[in-house]
Amino acid sequence: SNTRLITQYMFKILVIGDAGAGKTSIIKRYVSDEFANHCKTTIGVDFAVKVIPWDDDTIVRLQLWDIAGQERYGCLTRVYYKEATGALLVYDTTNRSSFSAVEKWKQDLDDKVRLPETLGGGPLPTVLLANKSDLTEGTHQDNCLSPTTTQRLDEYCESQGFLAWFATSAKVNRNLDEAARCLVGKLLDLV
Ligand code: GDP
Ligand code: MG
Repeated sequence: SNTRLITQYMFKILVIGDAGAGKTSIIKRYVSDEFANHCKTTIGVDFAVKVIPWDDDTIVRLQLWDIAGQERYGCLTRVYYKEATGALLVYDTTNRSSFSAVEKWKQDLDDKVRLPETLGGGPLPTVLLANKSDLTEGTHQDNCLSPTTTQRLDEYCESQGFLAWFATSAKVNRNLDEAARCLVGKLLDLV
């Protein structure tokens, strides 16, 4: 027959990092292909859904949860973490303190949330996003960061337990698909 079985997966992805790192811009660009130079901060919990036709028999629905202003309080509500299956941790490559905060965000995540038992119960697979890479362009062809920085970030990700890192830009739409696919690939390995 012509009947094909299509499996659908839904993953809840947390988008975390310091205020101003570009979280809301990344979600807007990735989900609606829009970018605004001035984003207003709204307080609350918000998510957007991206549908990814993964392959001939798999569709993935990604729920991307924005922290929408709560990053200022340094702690997030329980509903935010509940049943999360992965995270994108964003920092601003032009802002040192937003990189310093990465460790704190990762720690907070590891303290507060685990994968559901159906996905093995381990720590949340997390990808590090070195955002605003359009502003640090020209130093290295492939990813806009110097080779030294690239090597340091590789080592950093290894030691901090990140799945991978990507030099991203919400402004010019760089590496957002790649970062999401990396995370989804890992999650599909776990199901
Ligand atoms: P959030 O607080 O983490 O949600 O950060 P926003 O998404 O509100 O972004 C903060 C500011 O950085 C805004 O003015 C955005 O337009 C700007 N921004 C976000 N991502 C990028 C990027 O990739 N490149 C550049 N040049 N600006 C960005
Ligand atoms: Mg925001």
